[in-house]
Amino acid sequence: MPEQFTMTIDGVGVPGRAFLEVRNPATGAVFAQAPDADTEELEAAVDAAARAFPGWRDTPITTRKAALVRAAEAIEAHCEELTQLFVAEQGRPILGARMEILGAAMWLKATAMLDLPVDLTEDSATRRIEVHHVPLGVVCGIVPWNFPVLLAIWKIGPALLAGNTMVLKPSPFTPLCTLRIGELLRGVFPPGVLNVISGGDALGPLMTAHPGFAKISFTGSTATGRRVMESAAKDLKRITLELGGNDAAIVLPDVDVDAVAEQIFEGAFHNTAQVCVATKRLYIHADIYDAMRDRLHTLAQSLPVGDGSQQGNRYGPVQNEPQYRRVCALIDDARAQGLTLLEGAPVPDSGYFVPLTLVDNPPEDSRVVVEEAFGPVLPLLKFDDVDDVIARANDTEYGLAGAVWSADVEAATAIAHRLDTGTVWINQNLQSTPFTPLAGAKQSGFGQENGVPGLLEFTRPKAIFIPKAA
Ligand code: NAD
Repeated sequence: MPEQFTMTIDGVGVPGRAFLEVRNPATGAVFAQAPDADTEELEAAVDAAARAFPGWRDTPITTRKAALVRAAEAIEAHCEELTQLFVAEQGRPILGARMEILGAAMWLKATAMLDLPVDLTEDSATRRIEVHHVPLGVVCGIVPWNFPVLLAIWKIGPALLAGNTMVLKPSPFTPLCTLRIGELLRGVFPPGVLNVISGGDALGPLMTAHPGFAKISFTGSTATGRRVMESAAKDLKRITLELGGNDAAIVLPDVDVDAVAEQIFEGAFHNTAQVCVATKRLYIHADIYDAMRDRLHTLAQSLPVGDGSQQGNRYGPVQNEPQYRRVCALIDDARAQGLTLLEGAPVPDSGYFVPLTLVDNPPEDSRVVVEEAFGPVLPLLKFDDVDDVIARANDTEYGLAGAVWSADVEAATAIAHRLDTGTVWINQNLQSTPFTPLAGAKQSGFGQENGVPGLLEFTRPKAIFIPKAA
């Protein structure tokens, strides 16, 4: 592991003047430091990005695409180093950590295949009207701790491909891989095109209020998303908000319980249930409720939870202490309400471990159902009427994703059309592609990421009226 992690500002390493402690969530112990940027360093990053913008905007898109591919190759070349670092700071077991690093590189290469469309709204005898999509300027990228590398790449790729420059801030809980990627990409992009700064709680609001940004691309909680939107309103910055979810999965009575249970389980508990689009409320038809509950409980008891750096562990700790306390509080509340908790395998005493926990058919208005847990506690809810379960699934301020499980794909698809979410999976879970927009409905988001629609979020339309010779 590097001895010092530096920010990247104007193409050079900046060690910072103050520091954040970075903890390994499997032990709770501090194992590294990251710079805690001050306002001067933020100014330097925004200035560098502003100076780099005209040159990068005017660089041919083919050159920008080639740079994204080289960035992907640099990440791939350092995959093992980044994987070790990822496990240490994020907590996820090695296999999943490596998948995120390689997935991020794949995503960059796929993003490099996208093109900015030029729309023709008229091509008549007298004129041609072309609508181009031009970059916005300096983009502010703010990222959470659950998928720190992939979600950063979801911003870097399209923002830079479209011709913008960027100042990127990782979560204070997981700054290291992002800082390291900033270091690795210094030779790939011209100075100032990609700046990476890290900092504590004060830095995000300073960034969203900064007049030098034309756009904020934010991924995080709905509560913070509201603050970002408020801050951006002052000078009408463009925003994309990818926020929280309380996703419902609906399991119809015709499924083969043994065949689908593990996939459904993984859809809820992948990354220790710290996935924005994870199943967070599982509605099971009454006819198969007991069988499915028992099968899921067996899985919870048999799948090992532990330190991600040790082979064989399927799930790691909750990523940070505040989140650990939130999840524990939700479980304590369920216990205090007299709800039935079905606990999984025992977990290590150190660090921020929580046993994988199922809650057996709690009331619809209990906290564990209504709130986004974002940790390993999953309510199982019984239903016997399709219209009723759709109403219950939709009865939330969130609308990120959902899933329907059935042997009858047509019936499942009909239900999918009635769910008020940006994504619905049928007989699968947690899938996304670089070409498919992820867009939260209701208070799960504003705008979209990925695919051409996600790329266009980093541009503005510009219509050019061109006369034709008489
Ligand atoms: P969070 O909102 O606490 O923090 C996200 C980022 O915002 C961090 O970098 C943080 O430092 C920064 N931040 C905090 N306060 C800020 C402020 N006032 N202004 C600007 N920036 C600020 O979220 P989290 O706990 O890191 O992440 C978990 C949440 O993210 C969950 O709700 C999850 O569902 C959501 N999430 C959504 C998606 C999606 O694509 N929709 C993806 C992953 C996570």
